[in-house]
Amino acid sequence: MSAAIYIHIPFCIKKCNYCDFSSIPFNEPIKDRYLKALMKEIETTPFAGKVETVYIGGGTPSLLAPSEVEAILNKLEQKFHIVHGAETTLEVNPGTINLHKVRALSNTGINRLSIGIQSMNPMELRFLGRVHDETDSRNALKWISRYFDNFSVDIIYGIPGQDLAGLRDTLTQALGYKPTHISAYELSVEKGTPLSYMLAEGKIMLPGDDDKIAMYELVSDLLAGKGYLHYEISSYSRKGYHCRHNMNYWMRGEYLGFGASAHTLVRETRLRNIQDITGYIRLMEERGRAVVEEIILTELDRVNEEIFLKLRTDRGINADTISTASELLHHLEQEGLILKKNGWIRLTEKGMLLSNRVIVEILDTIEKATVIPV
Ligand code: SF4
Repeated sequence: MSAAIYIHIPFCIKKCNYCDFSSIPFNEPIKDRYLKALMKEIETTPFAGKVETVYIGGGTPSLLAPSEVEAILNKLEQKFHIVHGAETTLEVNPGTINLHKVRALSNTGINRLSIGIQSMNPMELRFLGRVHDETDSRNALKWISRYFDNFSVDIIYGIPGQDLAGLRDTLTQALGYKPTHISAYELSVEKGTPLSYMLAEGKIMLPGDDDKIAMYELVSDLLAGKGYLHYEISSYSRKGYHCRHNMNYWMRGEYLGFGASAHTLVRETRLRNIQDITGYIRLMEERGRAVVEEIILTELDRVNEEIFLKLRTDRGINADTISTASELLHHLEQEGLILKKNGWIRLTEKGMLLSNRVIVEILDTIEKATVIPV
């Protein structure tokens, strides 16, 4: 098999106000036990084969020492055939690195960094509850651009109080460091987060739909004007610098996940590791396996995932996969939301903007067409 590998490092300095990812405050003894459990999981995995991409995400993996990152990569090398030139990414929080660490990371085998600056506006960063400020981001970008020629910058739009000028400023400052890739995410409100409570209590208001559309268009137009390709709903890259790891995921390639809450997709079977971090350590120590759910996907699951994931990208989906929705597709094409070309269907720029609606409509239509009448 040929696969992508995801490693989850579930520690952060503190929880951001909008985040519902699996992470806990950094704690040295727990981190040590976690890394031991992680190494054991890699060592004992029943899977083997060729690996094209490795992505170390979190959480805040840049809290690890470079030697710990290197140890993880070495362990993967012992177990798998990591191909020459494999894309090897580490997520970085600007509040957790310095020049020395960036230089050391560049010698570990990591060849791509993904840095979450989110905004260059101090008020927006405080609102998001980030541990870093805009000076940390500038320094981090300066050091990273010195040691890595391939790095991605994450930004967030749709933050309460954010305006177009502020968003433009964040993008312009980030572009000054010549990232090869930008991910621009709309702020989403997840259940149980401080952001959701502030919203429910009427303490804040999110930008309206028109404002969010204007922000999306600003990001997309500004980056297109600078030569970035809009290759996925939230992702923009210089030619040849799309995130190969994420692209594999969106194209439904196989992947192996290691660590708490990590998922694996192999031979149309999805495995999910326990989310709780101490639970993960305990399961690995006591049973040597942290999988708590194993689902064999049905044909309908597979088709739904293909629609949901592949339509996010500029490659799109093979038209045969969704041919039962031909009438709807005709309407969507008339509305300028999808494009049909050489047997493939993909979203237009307008379709990407309205992707939630378009994808849900296609999914519903396919599902209805698949139901067998009783
Ligand atoms: S740094 Fe990232 S993973 Fe950690 S709490 Fe903030 S958003 Fe979540």
